[in-house]
Amino acid sequence: MKRILLKLSGEALAGGKGFGFDEETCLGVARQVKVLLEQGIQVAIVIGGGNFWRGRNSSKIIERTKSDQIGMLGTVMNCIYVSEIFRTLGMKTKVYTPFLCGSFTELFAKDSAVEALEEGKVVFFAGGTGHPYFSTDTGTTLRAIEIEADAILLAKAVDGVYDSDPKTNPQAKKFDKISIQEVVDRRLQVVDLTSTIMCMENKMPMVVFGLNEENSIVKALSDEFNGTYVTV
Ligand code: UDP
Repeated sequence: MKRILLKLSGEALAGGKGFGFDEETCLGVARQVKVLLEQGIQVAIVIGGGNFWRGRNSSKIIERTKSDQIGMLGTVMNCIYVSEIFRTLGMKTKVYTPFLCGSFTELFAKDSAVEALEEGKVVFFAGGTGHPYFSTDTGTTLRAIEIEADAILLAKAVDGVYDSDPKTNPQAKKFDKISIQEVVDRRLQVVDLTSTIMCMENKMPMVVFGLNEENSIVKALSDEFNGTYVTV
């Protein structure tokens, strides 16, 4: 693979703390991405916002549109932070948003993002799609398609796609490989349904693995991969 989009959940950044950032976890991600860059792979990153705010359920009384705006701003904070962590290891980065954030970020444009990737910069797509009622999953899928990524790498709390929830069913079976059609037919939760359909229509494969396993981002693109390939 030459160009990938890595999706990290917000909670993953919080490590064991559940809120905010765990610096060591973020440094671990940065070290692994550096290895991918050294292998000549172009890396774009989307980060969720669950370590700060979720539009759907973080407040029971404010309106959803405003709540989602707070969620999107949470993802901007995450990207600015992780981008800076990457810079401490000598990588060059760029943070894009779909809305103006003054001088904090740059407004997303495909040509600019692709140019930055080709220059070896790690690009961050913050702020999701810029619209409420969407998610960072949809932001991930949209950007992966736009920048013509070869695949989406999904670093999750679980280490692949299972036929049922491994947290509640100890007999749950992990797939080495599954087609996106089967993901839809079996209603499996890899990404949300809107994103699943977008991946299916635009033939965007996904590589699903556990972030907590040692060196799992690097392994995801090697023979040592032991997560799930979602094929198109
Ligand atoms: N969000 C949004 N539009 C987007 C992307 C994100 O409104 O295009 C908001 C939404 O409120 C979401 C929050 O940002 O809950 C954090 O994103 P994430 O995808 O991590 O949330 P999750 O889907 O896990 O709730």
